[in-house]
Amino acid sequence: MKDLTVLVTGAASGMGRATARVFADEGANVAVTDLTEEGTQAVAKEISAGGGSAKAWTLDVSDRDAITKVVNDVAAHFGGLDIIVNNAGISVRVPIDDPAYEDAWAKGIAVMLTAHPRIIRAALPYLRKSRSPRIVNIASTEALGATALHSPYSAAKGGVTSLTRSLAVELGREGITVNCICPGPIRTAITDRISEEHKTLYAKRRTALARYGDPEEVAHMTLSLCLPAASFLTGAVIPVDGGLMAR
Ligand code: NAD
Repeated sequence: MKDLTVLVTGAASGMGRATARVFADEGANVAVTDLTEEGTQAVAKEISAGGGSAKAWTLDVSDRDAITKVVNDVAAHFGGLDIIVNNAGISVRVPIDDPAYEDAWAKGIAVMLTAHPRIIRAALPYLRKSRSPRIVNIASTEALGATALHSPYSAAKGGVTSLTRSLAVELGREGITVNCICPGPIRTAITDRISEEHKTLYAKRRTALARYGDPEEVAHMTLSLCLPAASFLTGAVIPVDGGLMAR
């Protein structure tokens, strides 16, 4: 990863934070982006304290103008941009007949689907100059099989898997790989509100490994998709789910 620059969205928490740290440990320059200055600064400081290279940017991925500005700033600061990890996400739980459905749909799609092509479009001029251009999109097992009350979330994540395949085909000739990870149940802020008792029951019933995953277990898969060893892998949709989809 030395001399490569990675931009991670939603990097102040959970899998984004773990991804930022894992890439920094491998020698990459890391652009830590998320909603708040406090959150991004904390992760960038943590990485710098460990001897890594990181800088914080405040970025709401539903803000089109901010995306263009931050992507250009990151490339100018580190002298290029090689890897995008589209990770930012929110929990959306709403019944189809709820009055709040329209708003929940609009927000879920904006943050977890529309943002991805916007970031990729802004980054494309830099990826085209990179010696190792990679895009990793974080979807969810909700894109592959569904649970009730999450339809805007599932639709956004399903869109991400289709976007991944389509852009892999479109950008493959230029040597840009585009892959997607579908995490299963992972211990992060998003799943904090679920009780330990329910987590244990769910994991035993639904996953082969009978447990929740840790953010680092997804982050290492993201890193591996960006290593030279993965140079022939593109358009893949990979569950990292403890065997949830295998059951
Ligand atoms: P998390 O809440 O710990 O981290 C998500 C981060 O995204 C937060 O730091 C949040 O501030 C940021 N974010 C939210 N809205 C944003 C916006 N508009 N602009 C920029 N950043 C924004 O959750 P996590 O579990 O680490 O989630 C990471 C990704 O993994 C998400 O896309 C989520 O949907 C997906 N995912 C999570 C699980 C799980 O079990 N935790 C399972 C499948 C998929």
